[in-house]
Amino acid sequence: MVVLSKLYSESLQKMCCNEIIHSRGCTDNLIHQIPKYIQSNMKYFAVLTLLPLLLKINKLNRKIVKDTLTYYANTVFSGFQLAVFINILICAFRRRPELFGRYNIMFLPVFISGLAIHFFWVAPRVKQLFGASILQVTIDSVCLRRENVITRAIANSKGVRTLIFMFCSAIILHAKQKKLCKTFWIVTPNEQPIKESSPEIENSNIQIFENENNNIPNSLCNHKTSCRAHVLTGLRNYLTIGLSLDTIKMVMSRIPKDVPYNTFISKLWAKLKNYQFNTTALLAASVGIYRLVNCHLNHLYPLKKYLTINHLVASFLCGSAYVFLPKLSLLSYGLVICIELFWEQFKRKNYKELPKNIAENNIVKFVNKSTLGLLLFPPAVAYLVHTYVYRKHFVSALGEEIINGLTHGYGKQISFNISRAEQLMEAALK
Ligand SMILES: [Zn+2]
Ligand SMILES: [Zn+2]
Repeated sequence: MVVLSKLYSESLQKMCCNEIIHSRGCTDNLIHQIPKYIQSNMKYFAVLTLLPLLLKINKLNRKIVKDTLTYYANTVFSGFQLAVFINILICAFRRRPELFGRYNIMFLPVFISGLAIHFFWVAPRVKQLFGASILQVTIDSVCLRRENVITRAIANSKGVRTLIFMFCSAIILHAKQKKLCKTFWIVTPNEQPIKESSPEIENSNIQIFENENNNIPNSLCNHKTSCRAHVLTGLRNYLTIGLSLDTIKMVMSRIPKDVPYNTFISKLWAKLKNYQFNTTALLAASVGIYRLVNCHLNHLYPLKKYLTINHLVASFLCGSAYVFLPKLSLLSYGLVICIELFWEQFKRKNYKELPKNIAENNIVKFVNKSTLGLLLFPPAVAYLVHTYVYRKHFVSALGEEIINGLTHGYGKQISFNISRAEQLMEAALK
């Protein structure tokens, strides 16, 4: 650390932008980067926003297509604005040597850009997406640092990750069944069969659960088909989606370097050999376990008091399908949804109890409207990019994809330049 601070104060301070950040003049570089930022954002967000259309292929209509395309255009424009602003700020900080230090190369420019996102033209839904994605990859990065017992256990043990994922699965599916969460999750929960507050349904329940000899099925299940058909339909649909996603993943994967012949067939064969069924297995196992366990428990314990517990057990157990795709990023995704759910509950409980003058305060109102991911966005994105530039191995593949997807590899280029400068200077100081 002493060596590095000496290095920054003595050597990097004298370097101008085109020695460490980019190869042209600052304005030239910005003009040169603008079309690349647009192209890169278009490519990155195409997969993220247009791919979910595949999951709705049976329900596609004009409105869904229009909404999705608008969302895509919004994400591309927002990512572009962020990339341009970061680019300008990096150069602005670099031109003031008296401000220069380890944290001024990336951390501060990105932190300020993260704050400025509220003043850009960014749709609320896109802000939430940015907040959630960055929080997710920041959790990845904190775990990859393995600095304490908890992060070490999560990063090193598949068993620990699976167990935490099972708890996330139970919390998320329970919240989704209660309509408290709209975020995408691997499995869609079964419809809640009984509205607990409705008096007439309350009466009909008594009839259902007390009279076992009538024709009403003795179960809490609420699906239209038989339980067997319900499980099989789920398996068929999720297998189709899983196979489609695994095929897309295979097609988009890089061709291995050791392909003997440079022909289309040999390249295709090399990709086919690497075909993996992880997503198919994850989706099919999740829906299979969830529906099977929930239907089975609903038949075994068909009493209203077991309604929630039956569903929680099924939701918890279906999280064990994580073993088929035990990626840290998938766990972080689940953790982010749970964190946001608890944050919403916390706000709902506490905001009502605030005195009127505090509740009317603009900052308090802003905090009450925001997701936690959005509030943490400036420090999280700054931490992430800073870590990526200096210690790339502490950032997950997804984090790297986001940073370079939004900036057309600008982060990668700066990371490379800085590590090369560090090596040269450390060698000179020895
Ligand atoms: Zn510059
Ligand atoms: Zn059933």
